[in-house]
Amino acid sequence: MSRLMETFTVGNAEIAALSDGAPDRDMSSFFRDFDAEGWTRALGLTKPDDPIPFNFGTFLIRSGTGVVLVDSGFGTAGSQTGAPGGGELPARLRDLGVDAGEITAVVHTHLHPDHCGWDLDLPGEGELSFPNATVYVHQKDVDHFMGSEESQFTRTAKRVVAALQQGNRLSPIDGEQTVTPSVTMIPTPGHTPGHCSVMVASGGEHLVITGDAAHHPLQFEHHDWIPAVDIDPEASVASRGKLANLAADRQALVTGGHWPILTTGHVRRVESGFKWEPA
Ligand SMILES: [Zn+2]
Repeated sequence: MSRLMETFTVGNAEIAALSDGAPDRDMSSFFRDFDAEGWTRALGLTKPDDPIPFNFGTFLIRSGTGVVLVDSGFGTAGSQTGAPGGGELPARLRDLGVDAGEITAVVHTHLHPDHCGWDLDLPGEGELSFPNATVYVHQKDVDHFMGSEESQFTRTAKRVVAALQQGNRLSPIDGEQTVTPSVTMIPTPGHTPGHCSVMVASGGEHLVITGDAAHHPLQFEHHDWIPAVDIDPEASVASRGKLANLAADRQALVTGGHWPILTTGHVRRVESGFKWEPA
């Protein structure tokens, strides 16, 4: 079974990778203009539709200047996915000994339903799960999700944003945003209009949390592997280039919420572009 929780450090910051569900998934229909041959070869699969380990992941960052949760999983709907650990983020926080009231900031890479679900309805809390947290989301995602028709992609976001606005906890951002001295949101649009990745910097060390700018680490080598759901394919490719350069410049450790726990690595410049090196 996939792992559901792992902790590591970046400088003086303690990072916990927490799963809200870890299914195996056939990714062959996930990408636009799917490079079946390249995918199968690069991943060492026997055929392109072989299921691979996937994750609906969140990260908790404790750095002495705040307790930051990056994304909040599927919420109560997660238990219906049938995935190992589905809908168990509250249990993972308990395992870690973290109380919902200790979380000072929630950072959303974007507002898809697998990224903001536990903002609401955490057992034992009121409607707002993290009553003391300021919730950071790019204004363009707020506008996009609130302004779109109700669908399976927007339903959770509409309810979450309305409740956060009602409770005066929503902090919309419009560019790079410092959340704590160690945590910065970096706009990487494409998947959604206001998609952001997260940089953790502490004690001279760096961590990039990609969000959905990369559902698989090899997208750091293949910037043109574009998820079919991405709203702006060109921006999606450009954002992977921006993140790859940033990660290479800072020699940052890199991880992603949809990568199995714990997948980390580094991005190096090579003649052909970039190379992904698993840590
Ligand atoms: Zn996602």
